[in-house]
Amino acid sequence: MTIITQPKPTASIPDTRIYERRESGVRSYARAMPRQFNRAQGVWMHDNQGGRYLDFLSGCSTLNYGHNHPVLKSALVDYLAGDGITHGLDLHTDAKADFLAALEDVILKPRGLDYRAMFTGPTGTNAVEAAIKLARKITGREMVIAFTNGFHGMTLGALACTGNAAKRGGAGVPLSHVAHEPYDGYHGPDVDTAELLERRLSDPSSGLDAPAAILVETVQGEGGLNAASPEWLRKIAEIAKRHGALMIVDDIQAGCGRTGNFFSFEGMGFTPDIVTMAKSLSGMGLPFALTLFRPELDQWAPGEHNGTFRGNNHAFVTATATLRHFWSDDRFRQDVARRGALLARRLDAMAAEHGLSTRGRGMMRGIDVGSGDVAETITAACFAQGLIIETSGAHDEIVKVLAPLVIEDAVLSAGLDILEESIRSALGVTYGVAAE
Ligand SMILES: *Cc1c(COP(=O)(O)O)cnc(C)c1O
Repeated sequence: MTIITQPKPTASIPDTRIYERRESGVRSYARAMPRQFNRAQGVWMHDNQGGRYLDFLSGCSTLNYGHNHPVLKSALVDYLAGDGITHGLDLHTDAKADFLAALEDVILKPRGLDYRAMFTGPTGTNAVEAAIKLARKITGREMVIAFTNGFHGMTLGALACTGNAAKRGGAGVPLSHVAHEPYDGYHGPDVDTAELLERRLSDPSSGLDAPAAILVETVQGEGGLNAASPEWLRKIAEIAKRHGALMIVDDIQAGCGRTGNFFSFEGMGFTPDIVTMAKSLSGMGLPFALTLFRPELDQWAPGEHNGTFRGNNHAFVTATATLRHFWSDDRFRQDVARRGALLARRLDAMAAEHGLSTRGRGMMRGIDVGSGDVAETITAACFAQGLIIETSGAHDEIVKVLAPLVIEDAVLSAGLDILEESIRSALGVTYGVAAE
């Protein structure tokens, strides 16, 4: 059997008039990839004209285990065939009990972590809302510290913590009670921004109010794949503790193995008070979000933070299957580490060839190509060759690779070959134009 390593895109653009006529103009990814997809397996997506695309976007890290993984799919199919509960508000169900037991056995206990799990509404932003609401309730403080280039979701509380001006502009009301402090490296390699934060919080005249929480991504998924150093994150954890704030790690994009471990902060010598999870938690692309916190912080009154869709039992079933299948031993972690090293090596070589720089950690990396226009030229050239890939960063200037973590090394290499060629041709064209 030969392994398929080459994408085969279709050239003809399908009829998209129904979308133009009926779907809101808010749609975004579909504009850069005007095909109609109808099937997906593993790392491949198929369109309705027979085209095959290699997926280096993975639903923005929602499909870390690939599309329709057979183990997850059969768990769900069996559950459906047995008329298992689909929607259960927050009722006790077999599916929920199995998920909580797997979370305890496979994830929490082996890592020496003691977290309570709060099932929030099903998208990431819900988990962030719950986290900051809980921190404000517990501390009695209003202000949350978030960071430059941070991305935390689109509902008002989470949006207030998000840096991006275009996203913030959609709020329609003032976004307040959040201070955006410089992330690790924001002022260059010589300025320790954790020290700056400590100085401001210790100075009674700095104008910075005592925070309820410090909300941070260990790698900024949407904000340009900036990866904070373990030392910086440890300092942030210490600063939070010293100033009576709760440290919230938003692991919605960097978690579930994307940076190499189940949690992105593992092995760094600190334990967040609160962790938000979503995206790849269900493993099948089913909406499912979770806010984890230390048991002492569980000061919610029953129903105080509610929601109709806090019991997506199908997601519980597939999430349980991901934990038991991928995380019960060390094999998957080793595979991800090897693939992450391969990705780093290849991206570093591309960067060196053109005098560019790379960002990120594990299987969450990108290359800074200097401008959003160049990045768009590159991703469009990739798509024309059947590689689905997106951009990140304040100016969309980072081409980011979020391949499924289960991708075979040879297929990862084949996709990176397409990226390498697309960067060469895009930069060649750009230089050519500039020289005229
Ligand atoms: C995607 C994302 C969110 C928001 O999740 P949604 O499911 O889109 O609401 C929050 N934080 C981070 C770090 C994310 O990547």
